[in-house]
Amino acid sequence: MHYSLFSLVKQGLLGNKHWPPVWRDTSPKPAYDVIIIGGGGHGLATAYYLAKYFAQAQPHHPTYPPSHPRHPTTHRPNKNPAKPPRRIAVLEKSWLGSGNVGRNTTIIRSNYLLAANTRFYEFSLQLWQGLEAELNFNAMVSQRGVLNLFHSDAQRDAVTRRGNAMLLHGADAKLLTVKQLRRMYPLLDYANPRFPIKGGLWQPRGGNVRHDAVAWGYGRGAARLGVDLIQNCEVVGFLQEDNRCVGVATTQGKIRASKIGVAVAGATSKLMAKAGLRLPLESHVLQAFVSESLKPILPGVITFGGGHFYISQSNKGGLVFGGDVDGYNSYAARGNLPVVTDVAACGVSLMPAIAGARILRGWGGVVDMSMDGAPIIDSTPVAGLYLNAGWCYGGFKATPASGWCFAHLLATDTPHPLANQFRLDRFRHARLLDEKGAGAQPNHH
Ligand code: FAD
Repeated sequence: MHYSLFSLVKQGLLGNKHWPPVWRDTSPKPAYDVIIIGGGGHGLATAYYLAKYFAQAQPHHPTYPPSHPRHPTTHRPNKNPAKPPRRIAVLEKSWLGSGNVGRNTTIIRSNYLLAANTRFYEFSLQLWQGLEAELNFNAMVSQRGVLNLFHSDAQRDAVTRRGNAMLLHGADAKLLTVKQLRRMYPLLDYANPRFPIKGGLWQPRGGNVRHDAVAWGYGRGAARLGVDLIQNCEVVGFLQEDNRCVGVATTQGKIRASKIGVAVAGATSKLMAKAGLRLPLESHVLQAFVSESLKPILPGVITFGGGHFYISQSNKGGLVFGGDVDGYNSYAARGNLPVVTDVAACGVSLMPAIAGARILRGWGGVVDMSMDGAPIIDSTPVAGLYLNAGWCYGGFKATPASGWCFAHLLATDTPHPLANQFRLDRFRHARLLDEKGAGAQPNHH
């Protein structure tokens, strides 16, 4: 929708009363081809890509991201063009974007060691780069760089290995010296006796994206393509016939569907238990914080190798930071004091100059931690029921690639090549994708 200056002023004076909503809020129909449970980033991205690229009898495949020599196949043709999924709905128990998509610290990157992870997240980074043009929506994609500091020779070896793996798989990476870092980040405590900064691994194409705008952009795009976005509609059970999922029971009644995709992040274990499935996932709270607004002091994102701590500066000037997940399982999205003191101590250790900055807010989100830290995009033992989960504390950056690969799976019943290692049976066959214990990992090339 385009507005002239006159109409903008008029709308402003009228309190924007007549602006059309960005998306249609609808009531459920009795049946759909595909239902996606969860109106977070992943659910909305899935619905958008499904409606845009997989819903035609002659599927149109996009030319972006620009084909990459190392993973030229970013999609597979629809194997079942006779029955393209046309009637699609997203069911959200609360309001769209009320979950982790609006609670995260907005970092995007593809700085992984294992091939399966780097390729997937690099694909995602390429989709982020084209997202605003794709959605015609300003998501404030800002590639301001992500820096991993190292403080010991052993850490230097580990990040150098990771940087080389990134380059091998088409991502960008640079090893920076202390001299280079001092120019970029003069406020860091380079002489800290306990955590001396010895250098950093920098991914210049990493950065931040305005997280709410991602939900709004995908939501608007999906709604315009005819997807029903249904808010305040909690799925409370699954309709099953002969070990096949044929619909869902919701707080707005029963809805039937040929296929059901679950993308409910921290609520995954609870919801999938209703279909009789027990998953290798645990839910933990992850907290984040924002300080009062300061003048620009941090041009990019920094992770501190001396503790589990990361920090960046929002466009409004607030320092946005966080640490590790809470050590115990929980479904309560709220914070606690030990984590506040831990991240504050890490922050001041890294940058003593911020000691006087006041923390404005802290919040928590429930994240679904998989047992190897890698996600799951797969069909399940219940026919008709598909799963997108296990994003731990890093699923925001995956949003476009996850939506793309899940849409591909739902439409074609075959895993997307880039998500082929994110399957459930890896836990049964011990083919884990464990970045931390990477020594034992077969690094498929
Ligand atoms: P959500 O937005 O949580 O969507 C799931 C939706 O499902 C919710 O809206 C929920 O209401 C709905 N739902 C649940 N149960 C039901 C039901 N029964 N019926 C209907 N709907 C239901 N990742 C990064 O890559 N970079 C970061 O910097 C980063 N920082 C983070 C910081 C914090 C504090 C947190 C909590 C997470 C962070 N993450 C980060 C992780 C990232 O936010 C998540 O991995 C990602 O958002 C999860 O996918 P989603 O957006 O679809 O989840």
